[in-house]
Amino acid sequence: MVERVDEMKAILLKLKEDTLKEINKTLKSTSDLPSGEPSGDIYDQASSERDRELGFILNDREREKLRNIDEALLRIEEGDYGICEECGCDIPLGRLKVMPFAHYCVKCKEDIEKLQAQTKRFEEDRVYNEIPFGEEEEA
Ligand SMILES: [Zn+2]
Repeated sequence: MVERVDEMKAILLKLKEDTLKEINKTLKSTSDLPSGEPSGDIYDQASSERDRELGFILNDREREKLRNIDEALLRIEEGDYGICEECGCDIPLGRLKVMPFAHYCVKCKEDIEKLQAQTKRFEEDRVYNEIPFGEEEEA
């Protein structure tokens, strides 16, 4: 149990390092764009703006990842990491390695997804049933 969490902590820390590197690389490449002297070419300007935008989008995703990593590390500190929030069982290491931010074991995750699909279907049915069919006129 402890070894399992230690192994995941090492993986998460490595992941965090990689993510930070990725963010720095993006920041660097965007600030490396030729600035100051305007090229005067409208197309060049447009494409560098698009690159910058792309950099921001990528950065957002990396930041989101970083947030997930930090949250997982916090759960490790609190001793909650790798424990299914639904049934309280230990999430298998194999699953954690594939999904380091998993909150549920495979079984509970499937149950939740099934329930969500059912709820969604139920809502769709309800919307469908709310369409008036003129049942009063039924002869
Ligand atoms: Zn579970």
